[in-house]
Amino acid sequence: VRRLIMLLGDQLSPDMSSLQGADPRQDRVLMAEVMAEGTYVPHHPQKIVFILSAMRHFAAELREQGFTVDYIELDAAGNSGTLLGELERARTKHQPEQIVLTEPGEWRLLDVFQQQQADWPELELREDTRFYCDHATFADWAKGRKQLRMEYFYRQMRRQSGLLMEDDQPAGGAWNFDADNRKALPAGEQPPAPLQLSDDQTVSAVKQLVAERFPEHYGSLEAFNYPVTRAAAEQLWAYFLKHALAQFGDYQDAMATGEPFLYHARIAAALNIGLLSPQRLCLDVQAAWQAGEVPLNAAEGFIRQILGWREYVRGIYWRYMPEYAERNHLGNQRDLPEFYWTGKTRMRCMQAAIDQTLEHAYAHHIQRLMVTGNFALLAGIQPKQICDWYLAVYMDAFDWVELPNTLGMVMHADGGLLGSKPYCASGQYIRRMSNYCGDCHYRVQEQTGAKACPFNALYWHFIMRHAEDFSGNPRMAMIYRNFKRMAPAKQDALWEWGEQLLARLDAGDAL
Ligand code: SF4
Repeated sequence: VRRLIMLLGDQLSPDMSSLQGADPRQDRVLMAEVMAEGTYVPHHPQKIVFILSAMRHFAAELREQGFTVDYIELDAAGNSGTLLGELERARTKHQPEQIVLTEPGEWRLLDVFQQQQADWPELELREDTRFYCDHATFADWAKGRKQLRMEYFYRQMRRQSGLLMEDDQPAGGAWNFDADNRKALPAGEQPPAPLQLSDDQTVSAVKQLVAERFPEHYGSLEAFNYPVTRAAAEQLWAYFLKHALAQFGDYQDAMATGEPFLYHARIAAALNIGLLSPQRLCLDVQAAWQAGEVPLNAAEGFIRQILGWREYVRGIYWRYMPEYAERNHLGNQRDLPEFYWTGKTRMRCMQAAIDQTLEHAYAHHIQRLMVTGNFALLAGIQPKQICDWYLAVYMDAFDWVELPNTLGMVMHADGGLLGSKPYCASGQYIRRMSNYCGDCHYRVQEQTGAKACPFNALYWHFIMRHAEDFSGNPRMAMIYRNFKRMAPAKQDALWEWGEQLLARLDAGDAL
C-alpha cells in the first residue's frame, strides 16, 4: 500500500484534504467505529446512530468510486476500541509508505496523532480545508487586536467571500439585521411540519447495535430523523429553503411549546460531519435572496451563523486550546443538576428544552443559550460539566464548535473573550420570547417565594455576587443602575431567596 488514508466520523466529504491526490489503485482508506469516541462523554444514542450510519454510507460511496476501504465495525473481532489503536493495526497490516489524516476537529485527538508523529514519521496531518477561514487567515486577523469580536471578523469574512456585498458595501446598507430577528411566535402562526426521513437498512441495523452497546446513555432512539447520506441532507436543505428560510430570520429567537424546530434548518449536524458544505449553503441562501424569495434579514441572519459565528468560534478554539477548556473565569464550582439528564423539573422552559433534547438530540440556539445555558450561568455550574453535557446531548456538537459556544458564550468562563457581556436574563426574557410561562408551575412575575420563577432570584443573585466582575462593564451599566435603585429590603430578599434556591440545588432538589 502506498498511502493509508484515515477518515474520521466527521470527515465524510469527498473533498477532504486527506483524499487529495489519492489513487484508488494504490491507496487504501481506513474508517473505524470505536467505543472510545462514543463514550468519552455519554453521547446521545441518536448521535452515535447518525455518525456510524453516515460513515457506513460514505464508505459505500468511496467503494463505488473504486477505493478499497478497510471499514472496522464497532463489534468487529479485534477492534481495539480507539482510533489510534485501529490506525496502528492497519499500519502493521499494510506497512504503508505514508499515512494521511486530515486534522481532527478536537484538540484531544489532534494531540494524540501529533504525538504519534514522533514515532511514525510517515504520518502526515493535513489542514481541514472545508471552511471559509483557514488557520493562517484567522491568526492574521487576530494578530495585534485587543479584542476578538465576532462582528468585525464577520465583516472581514463578508468582504473576503463577497457574500451579500454590493461593491464594497454590505447589501441593504447594514452588516447585521439582528434587530429584525427577535420576534416571538404570534398565536396562530404555524411553522412547517418537519420533513420526515425514513430509516434505511443501515440506520435500522446501527440503531440495534447502539441500543445494545450504549444502553446507559441518556436520550431516546425512537424519533431519529436525521440525514445520513448526502442525498438526504440535500433533501432536508431544499425543504428548508422552500418552506422555512423566509421566516427563519423573524422567528429565529422564538420558542414555543410543542414546536421544537420552528423555522430552523436542522442541518448543522449534516454540515459538521461533511454531508453539506458551508460554501454551498451560503451561496444558496444568497441566491434565494437575490431571486426575491426571502427577505434580507433572513438571508443575512442565516449567513452570519455560518460565515460569522461558526468560523469565528472555530478560530477561537484552535487559537486558545488546550488552555481554553480549563478556563473558569467566574470560579463556578456547582455540579450540574441531575435534571439536565432527565427533564424532571417543574420549570416548564427547562423541561421543554431538555425533553426535546432527549427526544431529538436537538434544541435551537436560544433554548441552548437563554434557557438551559442561562440557568447554568445563573446557578454557577462548573463550566467543564455543562460543556460536557452540551457535547454529549446535541447532534451537531463537536468540540471545536461546542466548547467556545458553551464555555465562552453561555458561561462567560473565558472572561469575555467571546462575549463582551454575559448572556444572563431573568424569567422576563423567556416570557417575552416563548409561551412556556403560561403552563409553568412557577409565576414569572413573582421574584421571591415558593411560586416565584427561579430564574428571577437567581438572576439578581448572579448580578449581586458578580458585581465586582461586571458593574464597571458599560454594557451592564443599566442593570447595575436598576439594582441600585431597588430598596435594600428587596435586594436582601432576592439574595436570600437566591441562596435558598442554590442550597436546594446542592441538596439535589430539581426545583
Ligand atoms: Fe421558565 Fe420561569 Fe417561565 Fe417557568 S415561569 S417557564 S421557570 S421562565
